[in-house]
Amino acid sequence: MIEVRAEGGIHLPQAGIWLDPRTARDFAFVSHAHSDHIARHRRVLLSGPTSRLLGVRLSGERVEEVLPFGAPRDFDRFRATLLPAGHVLGASMLLLEHEEGSLLYTGDFNLRPGIACETAAWAPAETLVMETTFGLPRYRFPPTESVIASFLDFCRETLEEGGVPVVLAYSLGKAQEALRLAADAGMSVMVHGAIHALAQVYAELLPDFPTFERYTAGRVQGKVLICPPSAAESPMVRRIANRRTVSLTGWAMDPQYRFRSRCDLALPLSDHAGYDDLLRLVEQVAPRRVLTVHGFAEEFAADLRARGIEAWALEGRNQLDLPLRITGPSATAPGPTPAHPEHETSPPGPLDGFGTLCEALAATTSRLRKIAHLAAFLENLEPADLRRTVAWVAGNPLPGRAGRRLQTGGALLRRAVAAAARLPEAEVRVATRRLGDTGLAARELLAGRTRPEPWSFAATEELFEALAGARGPVERTDLLGTALA
Ligand SMILES: [Zn+2]
Repeated sequence: MIEVRAEGGIHLPQAGIWLDPRTARDFAFVSHAHSDHIARHRRVLLSGPTSRLLGVRLSGERVEEVLPFGAPRDFDRFRATLLPAGHVLGASMLLLEHEEGSLLYTGDFNLRPGIACETAAWAPAETLVMETTFGLPRYRFPPTESVIASFLDFCRETLEEGGVPVVLAYSLGKAQEALRLAADAGMSVMVHGAIHALAQVYAELLPDFPTFERYTAGRVQGKVLICPPSAAESPMVRRIANRRTVSLTGWAMDPQYRFRSRCDLALPLSDHAGYDDLLRLVEQVAPRRVLTVHGFAEEFAADLRARGIEAWALEGRNQLDLPLRITGPSATAPGPTPAHPEHETSPPGPLDGFGTLCEALAATTSRLRKIAHLAAFLENLEPADLRRTVAWVAGNPLPGRAGRRLQTGGALLRRAVAAAARLPEAEVRVATRRLGDTGLAARELLAGRTRPEPWSFAATEELFEALAGARGPVERTDLLGTALA
């Protein structure tokens, strides 16, 4: 079997190529043009549409090996065939054939028929390296037609009532899907500047792509406005007093998502495969070994192993169990963080909404408003999380154990943040003084230095219990530092 290494990117040393590395490499396969998959490589292997979209997003020179879909090409040490991945326009899977074995790398993929991109195709391979963003059974998406119908109903009703439907969709891929859906249903569409240049490439490459205009203030009434999620709270959007917002994302399957994203409606239109399609792909590729990346990689690999399939998360805790030929992540520095997170790869933690709730509660003195915020949040919680939330907002971190305290004062917090950020403690002290709050200092100092993972109510309670039961400040600092890192 071909050797696969996780070294701050997926490396195939025998073939001499990297797959979607986040840092600049000599030769890399770029599966698609989302910003967390691109970097300034010397030489890239990619599809024609990805090359065009990459040109919009990344300046500079590079040697491009552009391959049409389905036509194999021989390189020095391997044969490559690109297959459409159905994720965004141009997104490709790579079938790599080498004397050591064959490998199919999915990149980000989606098996439902493409609305504004190619429909996915795949091929059998000995090793399958697949993305598993939605690798839990709770991400079984409803039928696409019903999601699309709800989306169009929302837009039509909002327009009929004299409002502006504001669609929050990632600027490459989802935005162009929303554009096509709304325009093909007869609605006029305006797009945010971040979406416009990319939509122009779609219009060039897809002959029947509908017309659209770039957002101009004062001309949006009677139209559907499509914005990236990062613009949801921007002055541009907030100025539209009669707006109603809809968010299109697979994370809408989480009951808390709508609250977290503060939109009026959240619909699970995903450009990643849901749980069922992840399983379907494994079944059809029929590999001897599966390696998972992104999202719930460890959970999905464990799920496959329980079904009798050899499967491992390429990065993460289970690497200790991995066969020796797959090595763990190296100390390579992480790539630059994209200015506009536009991607569904990192799941929003269930606790994101809790932070927003606390901010909302603190921001108002009105008891009625506090009650409304709490009611909206509690509505969809599991019973165990209800108990936790109620205790926590009442200022009690250890429900059912009145009087016990966490004993995590300012000095201990600063030491834990310093340990997690690998910075001298003095730096944390300076930042805390400047920002007036250890929490704000932690956010600033830890940004880009940690590997964020979804963080649940249960994990928080576990941490609180551990802190309360710790034998002394050293153990407490350790517990907290590890949780933050
Ligand atoms: Zn992507």
